[in-house]
Order: sequence, then structure tokens, then C-alpha cells
Amino acid sequence: MSLTDKFGRRITDLRVSITDRCNYRCVYCRSGEEDVKFSELPMQDYVRLVRVFVSLGIEKVRITGGEPLLRKELLPMVEELAALTTAQPGKSGAAKQLDVAITTNGHLLAKLAEPLRHAGLSRVTVSMDAVDPAKFVRMTRVSNGYDAVVAGIRAAKRAGLEPVKVNAVILRGFNEDQIIPFARFSRDEGVIVRFIEFMPLEEERLWAPDVVVGYNEMLDILNSFRPLVPLPATSAGETAMRYTFDDGIGEVGIIAPVSKAFCGACSRVRLTSDGKMRTCLFSQSDHDLYGVLQRGGSDADLAAFIEKTIEKKEARHHIGEAGFLKPSRSMVHIGG
Ligand code: SAM
Repeated sequence: MSLTDKFGRRITDLRVSITDRCNYRCVYCRSGEEDVKFSELPMQDYVRLVRVFVSLGIEKVRITGGEPLLRKELLPMVEELAALTTAQPGKSGAAKQLDVAITTNGHLLAKLAEPLRHAGLSRVTVSMDAVDPAKFVRMTRVSNGYDAVVAGIRAAKRAGLEPVKVNAVILRGFNEDQIIPFARFSRDEGVIVRFIEFMPLEEERLWAPDVVVGYNEMLDILNSFRPLVPLPATSAGETAMRYTFDDGIGEVGIIAPVSKAFCGACSRVRLTSDGKMRTCLFSQSDHDLYGVLQRGGSDADLAAFIEKTIEKKEARHHIGEAGFLKPSRSMVHIGG
């Protein structure tokens, strides 16, 4: 069983948002307002939907949000998902375990890293946008996060959730001066740091072409620190261009959805925290998969809906082109 869209792209990755609540207010994502309304489904409903996706050919599930570590029933959910096997067996012909990863801001990770590993989580990506504590506060708009996040990253390493990846969204005027400190952080802490171009997915109106620090500029900054040496992609749908330095210490990556879009190799679909399917971050609409479940649909009905929706997957996004429309939802409501 495998899922392929009308452009021949194999769809193997599912991002599932399990809440659109967040304890951070990152400037490139959230408004400064507190969350008063949010949407979350019972965890068993996400599990049922993921099961159907996996039966159709999904091989990797990334749990995201909002902040996924805020959900109390996260550990049993990870346990259930990690026990699933993929529709396609592994190379040896033996059953292959579903790859379950999480993206988190890391605030609650120090305590949860070890239990998550036990529950069967394979990897974790931590979002952290500054190495300088004062800049960290300016980016996240929370005052007590920095030490907790660094402790979370270290706990994830100790728990064996490796390689630990740290994602930093770079915005001109906010944190472009953090690129070199992050290169040092990668070398000192033994983590992979990936710099992400800012996309127009925020709740506030901050995005403009000149706020984006593009791939070439990031590359120049990193090369001015130490010469970069390219590394091969680890998978076909790899979104980051990977590098180490001339002495082989540290690993950095650049994810450049704006200046070097990778839509041609996109293998992803998304499930929002309210159970809608999205075929692209920049879709103008979403598809009410949860509605099928609520109307008493069978797993076969859910599967048919998923297959029909994947046929609608867009060829590419249009950021930076005349007539570009912001997507129908912001990142926190889609699930990054
Ligand atoms: N709360 C979790 C976290 O902080 O990783 C998961 C959700 S967050 C929305 C997922 C990812 O989306 C983070 O790595 C975040 O940096 C990224 N993100 C959010 N808004 C973005 C934007 N406008 N452009 C690029 N990346 C963005």
C-alpha cells in the first residue's frame, strides 16, 4: 500500500497537531494575546485517524501543535503510535515500526524526554530561536524559558533521542546575529542546528520579503565563521541542506522554503488539531476528515476520504509571487 499524489510524489509523512494551544508567543508565529479559545480532539480520535493514514502508506508521523507537550495524554498516545507497523515492510521484508517524532519548544522537555523515549519516540526537534538569553525572551515573549529549553535539549540527548535537532527561524532585525552563536552551539552541544527562512504564516503582520534572511545570506554568514562542507541528504524528501565545518565538528542545515522551495519533493500532509486535513502549508482550504469520523464513518470511509484529498495536493506554493495569498490558517493552527 502506498499513497501517491497526482504529480507522482509519494506521501509518506504525516504531521499531526494535537493542540493549537501554546505556552510561547513567538513573534513569527503567534499574536501577543493569550489563548482563550483552542481546539483539541480526544487523543483516541487522533490515534484512530493516524492508524488509517498508516494503513495507507504513511511511514513517519511527527506530533506537533501548538505545543504538543501541553497535552497530558501524550505518553500513552506515543506508545500506541510507536507500536504500529507501516504498510510497506522494511528492506529485509520484516515488519517496520512506525517512525514517531515530536516538534516542541522544549519548555517541558527536561522531565518528559526520558518517558517519551520509553514510550517509543524516535526523535525530537526543539525550536529555539536565540542562544542569547535576552534575545530568546524577545523572540518568544516569555521570560522564564531559556534555561528550561537548554535543559530540555540536554535531557533529550541523554535520553538517546538522537540526533537532537534544533530549529531556529531567522528574522532580520530580530535574530540574524544568532547564526554564528548557533553554529558554536551545535559544536559545543553536539546537536544539529537548522536555520529556517521565515514564511508568511504568522498571526501578526510581520512578514515582508526583506524580513526574510535568505539561504545565500545565511550561507555567507556561516562561511565567515568557518568554511562549510556540504553533507549528503539523508532521505529523498529532506528539506534541509546539510553542512558540517572544515574540521568536521558540528552540523548545521538551512531550510529555505522561500528562496529554494522544495515542493517537487514534498512527501507531507497535515492533520490540524481540529481534525482537518491539509495538503500544503499554504492551502487556501482544508478538508474535514474529522467530520467523516463524527458522522459515524468507518475506517474504509476515512481511507477513501484521505485518498481523495491527496489527489488535491497542490503542485507548489507561490510565496513571493504576484497575487500570493496568505494561507487560510496561521502556523499555530495548522501545526508546524
Ligand atoms: N510548539 C512547537 C515548537 O515550537 O516547535 C511545535 C509547533 S511550531 C508551530 C512548529 C515549527 O514551526 C517551529 O519550528 C517553528 O519555529 C515553526 N514556525 C512557526 N511559524 C513559522 C513561520 N512563520 N516561518 C517559519 N517557521 C515557522
